Amino acid sequence: MELLRNISQQPTNSNRMYEPNQPGSCELRRKRTEDHGHAPAEMSKIITDPATGKCYCRGKVLGKGGFAKCYEMTDLSTSKVYAAKIIPHTRVSKPHQREKIDREIELHRVLHHKHIVHFYHHFEDKDNIYILLEYCSRRSLAHILKARKVLTEPEVRYYLRQIVSGLKYLHEQEILHRDLKLGNFFVSESMELKVGDFGLAAKLEPAGNRRKTICGTPNYLSPEVLNKQGHGCESDVWALGCVMYTMLLGRPPFETTNLKETYRCIREARYALPSSLSPQAKQLISSLLAKTPEDRPHLDHILRHDFFSQGFVPERLPASCCHSAPEFHVSSPAKSFFKKAAAALFGGKRDKVKYYETLSDVRPCYLTPPSFSSPQDGRPPSPSAGRPVAPATEGLPPTTRDTIRLIVRGSLGSCSSSSECLEDSTTGSVAETITSVLRGCLENMPKADDIPNGTECSNLQWVTKWVDYSNKYGFGYQLSDHIVGVLFNNGTHMSLLADKKTVHYYAELGQCSVFSTSDVPEHFVGQVTVLKYFAHYMEENLMDGGDLVSQPDTHMPRLYLLQWLKSDRALMMLFNDGTFQVNFYHDHTKIILCTQREEYMLTYINEERVSSTFRLSSLLTSGCPADLRQRMEYSLNMLLQRCN
Ligand code: ADP
Repeated sequence: MELLRNISQQPTNSNRMYEPNQPGSCELRRKRTEDHGHAPAEMSKIITDPATGKCYCRGKVLGKGGFAKCYEMTDLSTSKVYAAKIIPHTRVSKPHQREKIDREIELHRVLHHKHIVHFYHHFEDKDNIYILLEYCSRRSLAHILKARKVLTEPEVRYYLRQIVSGLKYLHEQEILHRDLKLGNFFVSESMELKVGDFGLAAKLEPAGNRRKTICGTPNYLSPEVLNKQGHGCESDVWALGCVMYTMLLGRPPFETTNLKETYRCIREARYALPSSLSPQAKQLISSLLAKTPEDRPHLDHILRHDFFSQGFVPERLPASCCHSAPEFHVSSPAKSFFKKAAAALFGGKRDKVKYYETLSDVRPCYLTPPSFSSPQDGRPPSPSAGRPVAPATEGLPPTTRDTIRLIVRGSLGSCSSSSECLEDSTTGSVAETITSVLRGCLENMPKADDIPNGTECSNLQWVTKWVDYSNKYGFGYQLSDHIVGVLFNNGTHMSLLADKKTVHYYAELGQCSVFSTSDVPEHFVGQVTVLKYFAHYMEENLMDGGDLVSQPDTHMPRLYLLQWLKSDRALMMLFNDGTFQVNFYHDHTKIILCTQREEYMLTYINEERVSSTFRLSSLLTSGCPADLRQRMEYSLNMLLQRCN
């Protein structure tokens, strides 16, 4: 079909003449083209590789580059369509120009990767050099962005994941691309991304040996390239930051009215991060656009960043994304998980249930380690090095003076979808007690520079994993003793014990029914299915959020969730026995307040997931450093605002 389309674009020739595999057809065609009076300088529609005798039919123009014009080109013997870069010899008559093309060919022809434009073949005739490349019918991300203006975060994750995969392969081959930009990310018919255009690519040289200048102008110059310190892998990572920024905001990060000012901004890594971006996107951009190359993340660590692990990454994109914003479905495994759960809940209606995901629908946490290691090697993160560089707006949690933007909540015995918090008296009194304990501590605790010595904490129970699927079912969590709980949207709670066989059900506080998973009362079948799927999902997909383990309890859940609440920075959870936990998203730190032997204990889990426990009474006398205090203040603020 493709062939016929190309041919029909040639008004002077009949289709019959272009049947593939017809002996001698190339000669005949070439002759005909010339007979039809094209000026000699005009390129023939039929092109023959002199070395192999293979004939190609030149189709429409795909675009124009520095030296080359790119055409659709069909192999007449197979009907396979290529993107052909055609470079007239006259354009590369100077030795350095020819060398540039030869270098591009040498570098590109040996590359084989799903996310690199495939190099098929090259040849030349007396007029031109021809480079046959994988045809990317949906052109490039530059074209898509032009039509779309900005892309959604899931799309950006989708494309970035593929770019990083292609770039990782390139770097493994010790090749630097040196001109990563939207126009060099080509998109195939099936919406797969392919990194292309190796016109400025070069072999990676040891740091001291790097050429200090690039002939040609890369689009996204990094500070070190501007400062003539040479281009390394980190400079490609910088360009990725510019690409990500441009996709999300529709304009490049360093764009001013004059070049001098643009260069100054690049050198200082000075750019605006609008509040429309999610905190995770801001964090990732600011780490990619770190001024010092060594501070930028390694490619592997980019994909483990919260921007990817805490947001939806589509497996595929529909072609409609080239011109309009997509609606997303929950991807697998979340999709199959919730589909099965919904089937159990809604029975025959299941086909009508839609699984559209807004970004907050499924929020798996702690999928991956939170921080970057040193960008040059693959070593695990060290306590002090390689923390993602947070932009100014995303530092420590705000203090009690700041307003907290509450996003969503759920409470036992109430309906979480209601904006009103139907306060259960016991939930209220548990919260009040913790509020006064925390407030008392904060008001009287002196300042200290160091974290005080911790104490033993036996069998602390805390939430190691959680999933918020409250826009459909509820909030699920796993405790450190492996009990899994779900606080459903209808205000009921179920716990699945560590034996995975016993379910405890609370319709209200203190009123518990117990049954076995092999003998579930009929009206609980749906909820138990959801509970089991939550358990399975967290087991399979999420990592523990800290180092503290506790003994499995096979008899009775000591803890069950009374209330949870999410702000844009933290998740707060309040339990029946007075345990109170706050998880901070941006650095994965956690605070857990509980009572043990009639004493309040505060556990702090730091960025490295290492925990320390303190008697609150010791903190009161010894004090604590500012970062812990700020987290305690923020937690108190969440408690105070939980019913607002
Ligand atoms: P430059 O090297 O100046 O960036 P190229 O010669 O690589 O330009 O490409 C010129 C244009 O041809 C591109 O902008 C794009 O529109 C089109 N093009 C290049 N390669 C392909 C391809 N593999 N598939 C489809 N279109 C392509």
